[in-house]
Amino acid sequence: MTDWRHRAACRDTDPELFFPISDTSSVADAAIRICRTACPVRQECLTWALNNGEQHGVWGGLTEGQRRRAQLHRLTPAEAIALSPAPATRGAQQ
Ligand code: SF4
Repeated sequence: MTDWRHRAACRDTDPELFFPISDTSSVADAAIRICRTACPVRQECLTWALNNGEQHGVWGGLTEGQRRRAQLHRLTPAEAIALSPAPATRGAQQ
């Protein structure tokens, strides 16, 4: 296991929270809030997901669709995080 996972805010949460049925669900919003507000390893997490082609779930505070768009636009993890909308406003970008 890589070191950053030991510091993950989601380490002791229900894994199902981070694998919502839909990118736009309230469950996805709850996971994103944890990533954005409580996780010290968000960039490491997103980097891992992008480098490993992780297609499912919320990683680094980005949904599946947001990660696909970040890759399409060749954003770095830091750029993708900076441009990712907060849960309350992201509905318009889905
Ligand atoms: S960014 Fe989110 S999914 Fe990634 S380790 Fe942190 S809490 Fe977990």
